[in-house]
Amino acid sequence: MKPKNTSIYLDYAAATPADPAVVKAMAPFWNQQFHNPSSLYQAAKDVRLVLDSARRQIAQVLGAKPTEIIFTAGGTESINLAVMGVLTNYPDKKFVTTNIEHEAVLATFRELERRGHKTAIVPANPDGLVSPEAVAEAIDDETVFVSVMLANNEIGTIQPVAKIAQLVAEIRRRRAASGNPLPLYLHTDACQAAGALDLSVARLGVDLLTLNGSKIYGPKQTGILYVKAGTDLKPLVYGGGQESGLRSGTENVPGSVGLATALKLAAEQRTSESRRLQDLRDQLLRGLHAKLDLKVNGSLTHRLPNNLNFSLPGIDGEMAVLRLDHAGIQVSTGSACSTGRVEPSHVLKAIGLSDEAANGSLRLTLGRSTTASDIETVIRIVPGVIADLRATKG
Ligand SMILES: *Cc1c(COP(=O)(O)O)cnc(C)c1O
Repeated sequence: MKPKNTSIYLDYAAATPADPAVVKAMAPFWNQQFHNPSSLYQAAKDVRLVLDSARRQIAQVLGAKPTEIIFTAGGTESINLAVMGVLTNYPDKKFVTTNIEHEAVLATFRELERRGHKTAIVPANPDGLVSPEAVAEAIDDETVFVSVMLANNEIGTIQPVAKIAQLVAEIRRRRAASGNPLPLYLHTDACQAAGALDLSVARLGVDLLTLNGSKIYGPKQTGILYVKAGTDLKPLVYGGGQESGLRSGTENVPGSVGLATALKLAAEQRTSESRRLQDLRDQLLRGLHAKLDLKVNGSLTHRLPNNLNFSLPGIDGEMAVLRLDHAGIQVSTGSACSTGRVEPSHVLKAIGLSDEAANGSLRLTLGRSTTASDIETVIRIVPGVIADLRATKG
């Protein structure tokens, strides 16, 4: 068996290695400048300045004000803060999202439903894109919150968030004209987007935006929620009042510095790295297509440059992942084994795949360390592994 450290890693949508520059930027804040930013002596004030600077860097990438950036412990927490933070103020109003969101959104919405709150889930189209008109139609006079992800983590489809924001703005204008005082907030989960897409909140037209470190070569369990000034939000976590009272707890200074560094790098490399990854991804698709009977899941035109997701008829995705791992290639599948039962991906089901097609899917996501030679190796190895799997089946 190939030693693990020579494996070709193609699961960057699940986790990214921290960039060496990120690790380096974080280093002083573990045991040198470790002070509590709220303390009064100069060393602590210096740490406060470091945190302020990290917040400013992030705000700059988003085109936001530093006071609009709330540090959290990851994407899941930011999403929960957005949904629950609005819910606390508007418990009897309606919350809208789509059926291809990350579990962090969908599980939160299921909890809202369980507690008896009003929700609506807009279905995506078979190409994995959400129609702005369908979102607008789901918004009624009672709706206060809409969440549509910027880029999907499984099939990489890029959602028309700016277009949705335009329709939301129109609805707000109509509300204002008719004397309806309710706010209507648009949140986007941008966890998968920073490497490829412009995150300008003004261009996107969002009120709330979630980002995390773990998908952008930053530290895990770091994230931010962008909260547009004037957005009426309550905290999930009460305590010392840090993060403008929206996220109490002693600040994660190394994590915040790491996240800011990672986001800055992502923004700097966005254009060149997207082009490079798209070329490699297209090369990978052509190479595999020539040798395998595969069907791509989701739009190929409105898609993250590093994402490939396809179904292989008659193949068990989980088995394929294990065999590929053995052959030195780390990928993921659209089936997850939870408590002994194989659950097909809700995203693949949402875009119309059968359980069998969803369970026979593979996701290959490329990243900064992926080389042309890796792609050639994958094209050489994968078809044989799949053929073996077909031959030994049942
Ligand atoms: C990873 C991910 C999350 C969850 O982020 P964590 O930092 O792991 O909590 C949410 N949404 C999307 C699209 C993701 O890819």
